[in-house]
Amino acid sequence: MGGITSDSSISSGICEGFSAAVGHTPLIRLRVLSELTGCDILGKAEFMNPGGSVKDRAALGILREAERSGELRPGGTVVEGTAGNTGIGLAHLCNARGYRCLIVIPDTQSAEKIGLLRSLGAEVRTVPAVPYANPDNYVRLSGRIAAEIPGAMWANQFDNLANRRAHYASTGPEIWHQCGGKVDAWVAATGTGGTYAGVASYLKERDARVRCVLADPHGSALHSWASTGELHAEGSSITEGIGNSRVTANLEGAPIDDAVRVGDQDALDTIYRLLWQEGLFLGGSVGINVAAAVETARRLGPGHRIVTVLCDSGDRYRSRLYDRDWLEGRGLRQPEQDACSIAAAPAEQQG
Ligand code: PMP
Repeated sequence: MGGITSDSSISSGICEGFSAAVGHTPLIRLRVLSELTGCDILGKAEFMNPGGSVKDRAALGILREAERSGELRPGGTVVEGTAGNTGIGLAHLCNARGYRCLIVIPDTQSAEKIGLLRSLGAEVRTVPAVPYANPDNYVRLSGRIAAEIPGAMWANQFDNLANRRAHYASTGPEIWHQCGGKVDAWVAATGTGGTYAGVASYLKERDARVRCVLADPHGSALHSWASTGELHAEGSSITEGIGNSRVTANLEGAPIDDAVRVGDQDALDTIYRLLWQEGLFLGGSVGINVAAAVETARRLGPGHRIVTVLCDSGDRYRSRLYDRDWLEGRGLRQPEQDACSIAAAPAEQQG
């Protein structure tokens, strides 16, 4: 039985390899923010996947469907353009399932992610970050490279619907069961849109009243698209793996009831608060997600349950988001531990 379905393959206590260990992540109540808003703010702990991010689910879903269709055969090569986490998930899975892995990544991504991909044995090609309209954009280049290598498959996470199907089949049902069927809102930023769309579609089908909220950083066109129908981007963001200039096949048709744009300083303040007050060490997209969940709590009022995603760990961004000089060089302030007012809410029960 696979790790990407909601029925637990680990119910016996033993899990059959890396693939079966994907998913089944805890849903963590973010205590301080819940108390401050009067809502239940819950974070799906996707950093606890065996490859360290929410993208393990998409990577596994994509490989499984390609194996079933015969597109991927033993000893074949998996090629992908990725901001890092999908590549990391694929690199682990390629080792576990017997494939070569070739990753094309923009050179703007963190050294931690690029270094990790190399340590995992993937062939890594770093390329300059150029817009999607340019044929040398990392995603488009990865498609051409895949077409040139015999026996290679292009994972194509942005437009391969196996991505959102993986979240529809696993993340959505897990959240629904963990919440006992009581969810008022689902909030997530999108890179490919797979996580947002797969979960939003599943939850809406279970209960049409679940409010689906798209979170977006500056520099992305999706907040404007969701609010006005026009793709329009302004500014930029230090967050990685989220935001887009186009509507991917995975995002197309997903339910969107509201959209929240979050600035980098707000996202930073949020991840440092999660670190100092909850003990959770998380990446930048989590700051966008959780800050948008707090804004959604404000819009809905007290007494609601809001679910979002804790996509990956802060470990992947130590030299950036957790480095004072790096932040100051970008006009951002590193939040102080004391400023996160430890007395804001009682500490977690000891025991
Ligand atoms: N957060 C991080 C850190 C990511 O790497 C990604 C994927 N690029 C996302 C969020 C968004 O996930 P999705 O591709 O499913 O929209």
